[in-house]
Amino acid sequence: MNLGPYIEWNGEDYRCTLCDRYFNSRTALFSRCRYTSQHDWCERCTRVFRSPAAKQAHIKAAWCHNICQVCDADLETPTERMNHIKTVHYYCQPCSRTFAQAETFQKHNVDVHHMCVHCKQSFKNENNLRMHKQKHLPRNLFCYGTDCCYAFKSFSGMLIHIESGNCMSGIDEEDLDVAVAVFCANNDYTLSCTPGYRYECMACFAPFNKPSALYQHVEGARGCYNEILVELRCELKLMCARHSEDRPPFYTGIAF
Ligand SMILES: [Zn+2]
Ligand SMILES: [Zn+2]
Ligand SMILES: [Zn+2]
Ligand SMILES: [Zn+2]
Ligand SMILES: [Zn+2]
Ligand SMILES: [Zn+2]
Ligand SMILES: [Zn+2]
Repeated sequence: MNLGPYIEWNGEDYRCTLCDRYFNSRTALFSRCRYTSQHDWCERCTRVFRSPAAKQAHIKAAWCHNICQVCDADLETPTERMNHIKTVHYYCQPCSRTFAQAETFQKHNVDVHHMCVHCKQSFKNENNLRMHKQKHLPRNLFCYGTDCCYAFKSFSGMLIHIESGNCMSGIDEEDLDVAVAVFCANNDYTLSCTPGYRYECMACFAPFNKPSALYQHVEGARGCYNEILVELRCELKLMCARHSEDRPPFYTGIAF
């Protein structure tokens, strides 16, 4: 152990040159030098200093001292200091800003860093956060398809399931497309003006090729959901119910 420039060891005894005394053990040396008024003492480093100024200079420079610039707390490692600043002073590292209260800090994290308040994880953009938030939703929407035992967190999740052809009712992407086309024709709606896309968000004009993608978009984008899409959702539910009635008694999945 490096005891600094003021402690000497002759192989047997220790000598504190500032106190000018000999000690037969390190423990004896520490127990006096720790409390003496003849010099300053750093407990963490067990070192003596000529003056309070010298001790202060040591604390500023030594790697074993990590001073919090907000409250002057002395942390043992740079990581501990960073954790202290982040948690005690609500420090945002990317913005180099501290916050006085947990509430304003949380609001900042949500608004600027797209943080999920459930798991405190931050996301690159609002879209990624929205996708992530699905994870916290309960799976309590049961498939509209008759005799299908799947449940979903969102309507778009159910549509993805139907489009993938996994619905146990036998309804698939084609049924959805037909139902949407009939709905539009009956109600005089156009769901897309964008060439090459069958669907489009009526609020922000983002184009999509599948109903699931359109619903996924409006479920997250505040203000994009509208009455027509609510009606269409009801229509698809009815279509699913009708689909089971239309089924021939010995349905084999083959269209004839
Ligand atoms: Zn001493
Ligand atoms: Zn020290
Ligand atoms: Zn602090
Ligand atoms: Zn920030
Ligand atoms: Zn989360
Ligand atoms: Zn299903
Ligand atoms: Zn939109």
